[in-house]
Amino acid sequence: MIGKLAIHWKILLGIIMGVGFGYILNCFGLQHFVKNWITPFGIIFINLLKMIAVPIVFVSIVKSITDFKSFENFAQLSKRTLFAFISTTIFAVSIGLVIVNILKPGNFIDASSKVELMNTFNKEVADKINSVSEQKDISILSPIIDAVPSNIFLALSDNSKMLQVIFFALLIGFSIMKIKSTETKPVVEFFNGLYPILMKVIDLIMLFAPFGIFALMTTLMTEIPNFSVLKGIFVYGLTVILGLFIHTFIFYPLCIYIFTKKNPLPVFKKMIPFQLLAFSTSSSAATLPLTMERTVEHIGVDEDIASFVLPLGATVNMDGTSLYQGVAAVFIAQALNIPLNFEAQLMILFTATLASIGAAAVPSAGLLMLIIVLAQVGIPEAGLALIFALDRPLDMLRTTTNVTGDVTISYILAERMGKVNHKKLLESTDN
Ligand code: ASP
Repeated sequence: MIGKLAIHWKILLGIIMGVGFGYILNCFGLQHFVKNWITPFGIIFINLLKMIAVPIVFVSIVKSITDFKSFENFAQLSKRTLFAFISTTIFAVSIGLVIVNILKPGNFIDASSKVELMNTFNKEVADKINSVSEQKDISILSPIIDAVPSNIFLALSDNSKMLQVIFFALLIGFSIMKIKSTETKPVVEFFNGLYPILMKVIDLIMLFAPFGIFALMTTLMTEIPNFSVLKGIFVYGLTVILGLFIHTFIFYPLCIYIFTKKNPLPVFKKMIPFQLLAFSTSSSAATLPLTMERTVEHIGVDEDIASFVLPLGATVNMDGTSLYQGVAAVFIAQALNIPLNFEAQLMILFTATLASIGAAAVPSAGLLMLIIVLAQVGIPEAGLALIFALDRPLDMLRTTTNVTGDVTISYILAERMGKVNHKKLLESTDN
């Protein structure tokens, strides 16, 4: 009977049972049991998703470019995609900045909570700061420098180098398109043949999803810091959540309505499975395989558009991350009584936009890049200790916003180019 449930119910069941089971085991002090017997299944699931991420990004981007009839069509899609990514990200940070300046969550944290948080997390924060400064002279333009690989095999063997893989895939696809001869035909056919095989692999991996997610959530429940630490930053958490909620459930549907004149509800209904997966894995890259499959097969976005926009979006378009970085930076400044004038806030807007582009699509990447945002506006990085405890749950939520943004943009672009299969979108079968 469970086998017949739609995928979003199975994933939801995995989340609920994982939270319940994890809570009970935590109460009985069985963290060790969880670590030995349950956590490994979560790790296996995440590894399966990561295993397929690089091949799917590479193959789908090359395939999507070579499928374009003309270079003009491809150039038009690229321009529109980049414009959509940048404008939605700027909008996201702006929403965050407006809300954090109105609610002023930094004023709600009392002196004793500040001391407790600083003492509890200063070691973790110091480790993070060191890991960022170890990465040579990290600058605000690092994301652009890092996009160009010096060795493509190193890039292909490292999941955190997705931007480099994309760069290389774009060059290969573009070159094939420019040559278009009988000699390149076998290569094009190879990529065309590989694509459905990878999609099948994703289907197989997803059979394991409910169990993997159950294991991830059970593990998470045994790692949550105690409530007294979280109390002091409650209003900060609510501020981020409010911003993410507005951006995800008001801004995106409005964009769909305004730019396509279509009802956003059917699209949003079909998003639930990968939104839940993003929520439970905190990784846009790990969610990408399912995001692509759902967007093409269930939302009806043309394969060529989805194969180009989604891998790129998962890596560079992170509205949730940029919104969170804007709120977090101002919150830390408020809590440490550092005044931020309009120029400083503009600087946050600019750096958070770039930092979200540079953030890898993996858990906690946004927190790491926040270090750069803070440094640019002169807020002490040690202030990260204030937000550390809440980072994981907020990461789960911002990742959900990140993937929703990518799919919203791919749907709008496809709709405007007349490339949505409405039969698929309106079909109710949802397994
Ligand atoms: N976890 C996020 C993602 O994968 C990135 C972040 O940490 O904000 O989209």
